[in-house]
Amino acid sequence: MSVEQAPVQRADFDQVMVPNYAPAAFIPVRGAGSRVWDQAGRELIDFAGGIAVNVLGHAHPALVGALTEQANKLWHVSNVFTNEPALRLAHKLVDATFADRAFFCNSGAEANEAAFKLARRVAHDRFGPEKHEIIATVNSFHGRTLFTVSVGGQPKYSDGFGPKITGISHVPYNDLDALKAQISDKTCAVVIEPIQGESGVVPADVAYLQGARELCDKHNALLIFDEVQTGVGRTGSLFAYQHYGVTPDILSSAKSLGGGFPIGAMLTTEDLAKHLAVGTHGTTYGGNPLACAVASAVLDVVNTPEVLAGVKAKHQKFKARLEQIGEKYGLFTQVRGVGLLIGCVLSEAWKGKAKDVFNAAEKEGLMVLQAGPDVVRFAPSLVVEDADIDEGLNRFERAAAKLTQA
Ligand SMILES: *Cc1c(COP(=O)(O)O)cnc(C)c1O
Repeated sequence: MSVEQAPVQRADFDQVMVPNYAPAAFIPVRGAGSRVWDQAGRELIDFAGGIAVNVLGHAHPALVGALTEQANKLWHVSNVFTNEPALRLAHKLVDATFADRAFFCNSGAEANEAAFKLARRVAHDRFGPEKHEIIATVNSFHGRTLFTVSVGGQPKYSDGFGPKITGISHVPYNDLDALKAQISDKTCAVVIEPIQGESGVVPADVAYLQGARELCDKHNALLIFDEVQTGVGRTGSLFAYQHYGVTPDILSSAKSLGGGFPIGAMLTTEDLAKHLAVGTHGTTYGGNPLACAVASAVLDVVNTPEVLAGVKAKHQKFKARLEQIGEKYGLFTQVRGVGLLIGCVLSEAWKGKAKDVFNAAEKEGLMVLQAGPDVVRFAPSLVVEDADIDEGLNRFERAAAKLTQA
């Protein structure tokens, strides 16, 4: 059945792709569990998880089954019609969270775009146009559309594209006094990542999130948690808000939600959801049957006591060994994060060199991630086998040894 395909190599990237990425020198072609093989047949262990996406590793039988079953039934109908997988997925998310309503889209940025538009709409309807300000945090990441880079707290992503969305301010993360000083009755929403992912795996303090909740209530502002990276089991709870015990008004999810199939979701209460009446917002692909069938299967596997408890146990395994490696080679000084979102903070001597660690790991057959220039990040499958953790960390130790000896 397979059609002969023209051979392609990494060099083709520089010929035919927009140069906004700098992908690694090898091309992965196949994966199974937490192992990946490249074009040359070289095997790697995957602790990157496609940036916290491949929540059940590669080619998980439950996801392959859900996708192929749906692929043989119905791919797409648009939102002119609803579909069974979308309704089933919405039920599962509503049953498992604070939310009464779900909106589906195709990425984290789109989930946040919907969240921000909803917050502004609610404030506009209830209080008038003055109340439109959004408070976000310094170094936060919320996606790459113009609204989401404007809300994101990293000027390197928002500068140089002309006028930004206005009415947005940024306060230092985990600093309740700064938030208190900035919030006012013009604030329509406060947006927080429960763990800052892209900018270094920085967990929020419980008291910070509790304080933000209270300030939002006091000023009739909505609390939005961007759980695109922290959601769907990553912390050992289904969502990080449950880990912290602080409930937002709006939650955005994506990445792990699809386990590798593109989908995003915005979750909220019925009271807020009604402000997105017919015609106020939309997307052609959002709630696509294929994506929703896969995400439903992801939730069935992830939202179980075994998998969620396993995340906590695997966290301990990673942390203990990583701390040993950090100490032995003087490569990093701190191992932080929650569940299977882990960051190793590079020591003074290695500051700015996360890319070197990434390259050294790759040479040993291990895929890791950076989170900014100073942090090496791990976001593996939540069901990564203990033997793969051991072997992957052996490879990581070899990389650390070679790097620090050189
Ligand atoms: C990855 C990420 C996004 C953006 O998601 P995309 O699917 O790339 O649009 C938004 N917020 C956070 C916290 C993320 O980690």
